[in-house]
Amino acid sequence: MTVKVRFAPSPTGRIHAGNVRAALVNWLFAQKNQGVFVLRIDDTDLERSTKENEDLIETDLTWLGLVWDERYNQSKRFDIYQKCADQLKADGRLYPCYETADELDRRRKVQLSRGLPPIYDRAALTLTAEEIAAFEAEGRKPHWRFKLEGKRVAWEDLVRGHCEVDTTSMSDPVLIREDGAFLYTLPSVVDDIDMKISHVIRGEDHVANTGTQIEIFEALSAFFGNAPLPIFAHMPLLVGADGEGLSKRLGSMSISQMREDGIEPLAITSHLAKIGTSDALEAAPSLAALAEGQDFGKMGRAPARYDFDDLMRLNAGVLQAMSYAEAKPRLEALNADLGELFWDTIRMNLHKFNEVTEWAQIVGGDITPKIEDAAFAAKALDLLPADYGRESWSAWSGAIKEATGAKGKALFMPLRQALTGMDHGPDMGALSFLIGRDKIAQRLKG
Ligand code: GLU
Repeated sequence: MTVKVRFAPSPTGRIHAGNVRAALVNWLFAQKNQGVFVLRIDDTDLERSTKENEDLIETDLTWLGLVWDERYNQSKRFDIYQKCADQLKADGRLYPCYETADELDRRRKVQLSRGLPPIYDRAALTLTAEEIAAFEAEGRKPHWRFKLEGKRVAWEDLVRGHCEVDTTSMSDPVLIREDGAFLYTLPSVVDDIDMKISHVIRGEDHVANTGTQIEIFEALSAFFGNAPLPIFAHMPLLVGADGEGLSKRLGSMSISQMREDGIEPLAITSHLAKIGTSDALEAAPSLAALAEGQDFGKMGRAPARYDFDDLMRLNAGVLQAMSYAEAKPRLEALNADLGELFWDTIRMNLHKFNEVTEWAQIVGGDITPKIEDAAFAAKALDLLPADYGRESWSAWSGAIKEATGAKGKALFMPLRQALTGMDHGPDMGALSFLIGRDKIAQRLKG
């Protein structure tokens, strides 16, 4: 079987962690199985969809490295949805309804007050031709419902195992609105069949939809030459670190915002690929490595904890593992390319890439040294070797130790503070060499 998957975002807003996880897992699955990854813009809601959001989705996916093999806009495919709708109408599976929202609401209330489930009662199925004509004469336009068979719909889910949804407990879903607009369900199923999607991978908030969608799938299968059902995988939702739902801040944090905040794409993808799985949460060397490890068998059924601290830890991990060749263009762009030794020395201390400018300033620019004990600094200056090389730090600090009796933190902290103006940072051996003798001497003078 050719693996073909789709990511179907609605361009009604920016994409955030939950959507990206769906995009990512689909992409990884396609990659691992030499399959095809389809980007399908779910823009059937013409009022709420914007081109701007669509462009932003593309920018975000591209930045994350999730390139697509095929791309569609549902808004350009109304013809095929109409053909399928006509077929369903001809088969008696799609029927017109004339109730207003108020009428439906009133009926639901009555059902609830009688202790009945608020399911659509299919009153429209018994309308006579005269009643329909009367509604039409009133100017009412029908909305169209799909007639469910009302049965236990079962499938083997790659994440959840055997699943069943009882469609007798559901209202016949509205597929077409009064104004003729197709709601999400029909276009989604039609496209999954027509595009030969082999696996539908998405969040578990769609489990109930799957029951309905399988029924629609079956109703249309013959129309498409007995197309087989796709395989489904419903991933547990993301929750915040406290186990509650994703906080508003995290849940709505867009990828563009993360990009502006200096979060590395590989940190985001490593994080989203691994949370909720049995794998360790660590920065992957590449998307290809993540694809290699993709396996629904490792995905648990419990909600996946989305913890911003984990993401930041992975961000540091990505920077620590970044080669100079990879970092160089970005260092140049920030005017902070001070060579390979500089990068190798500071990368262990970075939380975000932009912090390189701070270290470039410390190494190549001017800083305000922090000197609490002027006598100690003067002594250190006295003992500073005339030639300060890559290995000079240990001899120099050893001589200062001997002369002042200071050791451990009492020895190293004042030197770090004087030379860098900071209380923490990378290895002083390499850093002091990068700073160089002239600047060291000048900074020790305060
Ligand atoms: N546009 C839908 C969503 O974002 C797609 C769901 C699906 O994958 O079928 O929820």
